[in-house]
Amino acid sequence: MSLIAGVGFFTLGGCMGYALPRFPFLLMSRTRGFNTHFPPHPEAIPLSPHLTQRVLHMRMFYWWGMLVVFLPLTVGILSVQWGNAAFGFGLWISGGWFLLNRLQSLFGGQTPPWTKDMALELQIIANKAEQGGGCCNWASPHWQVAGIVCVNCNSKLSNMPRPDLGRKRKDRRFVGFLRLMLSDGYPLVSVEDEEE
Ligand SMILES: [Zn+2]
Repeated sequence: MSLIAGVGFFTLGGCMGYALPRFPFLLMSRTRGFNTHFPPHPEAIPLSPHLTQRVLHMRMFYWWGMLVVFLPLTVGILSVQWGNAAFGFGLWISGGWFLLNRLQSLFGGQTPPWTKDMALELQIIANKAEQGGGCCNWASPHWQVAGIVCVNCNSKLSNMPRPDLGRKRKDRRFVGFLRLMLSDGYPLVSVEDEEE
């Protein structure tokens, strides 16, 4: 095998090992009919039980990656042993990196883009608004890119930036897909930007 072919196979393996475990959150919720309760991307989403549930679903898809990653890891081992070693090695490097990355978030470091606490906070704010204990009489909290805002009185209810919520994206399909894959679902604005 020439060097160029080797590098090519290694890169191919690396890309597949990167993409495969991300497929659950990239694809699962983006089918037609799955998003009828939400306004189209990138509009703000009103807080509701549907939204809370969506956050929990995205969290589940995120962790499914931990199971899916064993596919590229297994194929990687087989490939190193009997097939194309460069390809298998590429699968292993990116699949292994993914696994380490997810494992470290169990022990601290950056939290996943979707968490139970996030769903809880959404529900608390939604309940408050419904019971009239919120910012105004007709409180209508919406989740915008940089935080939760009441669209009736414009008060900011939370600084929690909005992660990807599995809606079909407006930008061209491939670009949107690529951006999602690289951002891993994390919000594209950081809290620091907001506070400046
Ligand atoms: Zn309000």
